[in-house]
Amino acid sequence: MNTPRDCRVCGHLLRPNALPISEATGTRAHAGRGLCRKCYDAARYAGTLIDHERRYRPREEVLEEWEHVGGRCVTCPEAARRLNMPAVTLQAVLNRARRDGQIERPRPWRELRSA
Ligand SMILES: [Zn+2]
Repeated sequence: MNTPRDCRVCGHLLRPNALPISEATGTRAHAGRGLCRKCYDAARYAGTLIDHERRYRPREEVLEEWEHVGGRCVTCPEAARRLNMPAVTLQAVLNRARRDGQIERPRPWRELRSA
C-alpha cells in the first residue's frame, strides 16, 4: 500500500517504513491508515481507528483482500490475522458489507476457486 504524504490527523510528514529515518529526517513512520504512529495509537486507544479505516482503506479493498486470503473459509480472527488488521475492525467491515448486501452467506470454496 502506498504511504500517504501527511498524517491525516496531525499533518506531520510521513515516510514509508522501508525508508530509514536518516534518509528522511523530520518525518514520522507511517503506522497505517494514513496515520503516524502517535495518532494511530491514540485512535486505537480511543476506539476511533475504524473511522480512519473507512476513509483511507475503502471497504471494497478490504473485502477484496478478505476474499484473497480465504476469509470466507476461516474464522474472523484468523482472517484478520492474515490481513494484519484488528479482528474487531474486520468484523465491523464485514457487518457493514452484509448489511449493504455486498457479501452473502459463505459459499463453498470450490465456487471461490472458479470465480
Ligand atoms: Zn499524526
